[in-house]
Amino acid sequence: MENLSVEDRFRLIEENYKLIRERIAAAAQQSGRNTEDIRFMAVTKTVDPIFINHALSLGIDLIGENKVQELQAKLDFLKPEDVEKHLIGHLQSNKASKIVPLVSMIESIDSLKIAKAVNQSAEKIGKVMDVLLEINIAAEESKTGFLPQEVLENAEAIALLPHIHVCGLMAIPPMCEDAQNSRRFFSLAHQLFIDIRSKNIDNIDMNVLSMGMSHDYYEAILEGATLVRVGSALFGARHY
Ligand SMILES: *Cc1c(COP(=O)(O)O)cnc(C)c1O
Repeated sequence: MENLSVEDRFRLIEENYKLIRERIAAAAQQSGRNTEDIRFMAVTKTVDPIFINHALSLGIDLIGENKVQELQAKLDFLKPEDVEKHLIGHLQSNKASKIVPLVSMIESIDSLKIAKAVNQSAEKIGKVMDVLLEINIAAEESKTGFLPQEVLENAEAIALLPHIHVCGLMAIPPMCEDAQNSRRFFSLAHQLFIDIRSKNIDNIDMNVLSMGMSHDYYEAILEGATLVRVGSALFGARHY
């Protein structure tokens, strides 16, 4: 990867994107869904803006970053500057006021406390912040997010915050060698999504189910993902 010229990397991103689009279409078809109902996010952490901009020139219209500071540092270099951006990494309360003006969605709301901090920051700038609730779908010690049995109760509490709009759920299953093994976790997340939607809670719209990354977006779509977050399969392996 390091030895590739910028032009070669551009071409690789183009080829990768074409392949990903084909696989998204195939997964949609296999599960009887419309390709248009599945949104694609380019995960741009550690990626140099020159390559992000090349991806945007291919028609990608949504990027995701994990860290507030990294996003801030890239903003001036992005073309178009107003490309839609989501935060997908854990957020600390003291960074809420920094991120709220910068993104159209925070996908990683993982506690009532952070929801309250985001609500407060959004109120200050007169914004209603779209959010997803992050689910720790396999109850892993190492991961943040709401446990499946805690989601509904927290969703109800968060829905009462007037400057927050709950739009759906985000989940990351345990790392599995074989993506087939992730399907039951994706299915569980989808079931939660459907259950909460069926309750018709005020200020909760279960429209976005964000799950599936480079190695398992195909399986996530089969289980109902509406948004897939893809980094390395598009840009190549990350170098930290
Ligand atoms: C890094 C990251 C991704 C993308 O990971 P890849 O395996 O490179 O596709 C997706 N979602 C989150 C939350 C991430 O941190």
